[in-house]
Amino acid sequence: MSSQKRNIAILGSTGSIGTQALEVIAANPDRFAVEVLTAQSNADLLIQQALQFKPNCAVIGDESKYNLVKDALWAADIKVFAGKEALAQVVEAESIDIVLTALVGFAGLEPTIRAIKAGKHIALANKETLVVAGELVTALAKEHAVNIYPVDSEHSAIFQCMAGEWHNPIEKIYLTASGGPFRGKSHEELANVTKAQALKHPNWSMGAKITIDSATMMNKGLEVIEARWLFHLRPEQIDVIVHPQSIIHSIVQFTDGSMKAQMGLPDMKLPIQYAIAYPERIYADFPRFNFLNYPSLTFEGVNTEVFRCLKMAFEANEVGGIVPCALNAANEVAVDAFLHDRIHFLDIPMVIESTISSIANIQNPQLDDYFGVDELARKIACEKLSIR
Ligand code: NAD
Ligand code: MG
Repeated sequence: MSSQKRNIAILGSTGSIGTQALEVIAANPDRFAVEVLTAQSNADLLIQQALQFKPNCAVIGDESKYNLVKDALWAADIKVFAGKEALAQVVEAESIDIVLTALVGFAGLEPTIRAIKAGKHIALANKETLVVAGELVTALAKEHAVNIYPVDSEHSAIFQCMAGEWHNPIEKIYLTASGGPFRGKSHEELANVTKAQALKHPNWSMGAKITIDSATMMNKGLEVIEARWLFHLRPEQIDVIVHPQSIIHSIVQFTDGSMKAQMGLPDMKLPIQYAIAYPERIYADFPRFNFLNYPSLTFEGVNTEVFRCLKMAFEANEVGGIVPCALNAANEVAVDAFLHDRIHFLDIPMVIESTISSIANIQNPQLDDYFGVDELARKIACEKLSIR
């Protein structure tokens, strides 16, 4: 990577991670330049961002908005493309140093693979890519000498704790979880929770899908699978601990029993900045943590009988093959249905469970298998929604 300005492509620039990444870049104009911006449908914000950051090109997924974006950016000499293929192809441009995958869901897989094959380093927010095809994607990154820098706060914490320790084996990691808005609730209580309650995360403001994943604790399950591939761990080396204050972002335990943790106030701009500036730590004026405001940091076990999504993710991680891919697809369908008021909160794990159990596993899957299973699992999950 060049030591001068880093040219960043942001996939999903209009989302929660994307907009925060642009705040980091705006605060460090001497270090970063925006080369590419992409968004699925929020044309107005994409136009506004492009006019401010002057990327080489902007891509809108929704083709019906192509003319709108093109007309708005024509005078600024910014190239505009539209559609799914353009979203994936744009990462290959010669001038890009790092691709920040801040788009949500399975849609992140193809552009990430294309970016790795083009030799781009990845700042990975899109955890679904590693959940679905972590083995294949990390092997590809190795083959192309590409680094994957984690953006997810827990994985950034582990990555920060590993500085100077890469030659030392990890015994175990603990991913911390806030517990979400329904921490401590019983199965019966979860039966009556509403969408508005599920969308109110106690510590983080994030996109809708990950916010619901946090309420079901599927988010932590996806992170367990993500951690396995990022840090080359066996499933039994990864544990989850509930830490409601979200100050300790995760912990590594080494083979001498020593534990290192990374802490700070919950703010995604820090892990975003660490990922795109690595190995530098650059000055940031983010609010500092004050111990006296948090006289007690507390920890609890997780109840995987109540939060069944987390249990299913642990099991999918153990079994491997295409099960995590099926789990992810069924979860995307179920969460979308919940966000559209089509199902209740507790239907989410039900839809996922019955979808996974209808699909035969494939060991050592190839790329086509992941696309095939994603499509099949979505179809089955949609059927389960209607017969629920
Ligand atoms: P978001 O919903 O706020 O934004 C998603 C972005 O992706 C938008 O720019 C949207 O236009 C784009 N997008 C959506 N569907 C697309 C598609 N099919 N093709 C191309 N682009 C598409 O989501 P977010 O909260 O920013 O999360 C993004 C990713 O980062 C997710 O994988 C999430 O798990 C991960 N993540 C988010 C946070 C957070 O604090 N928000 C923290 C850790 C990890
Ligand atoms: Mg996280």
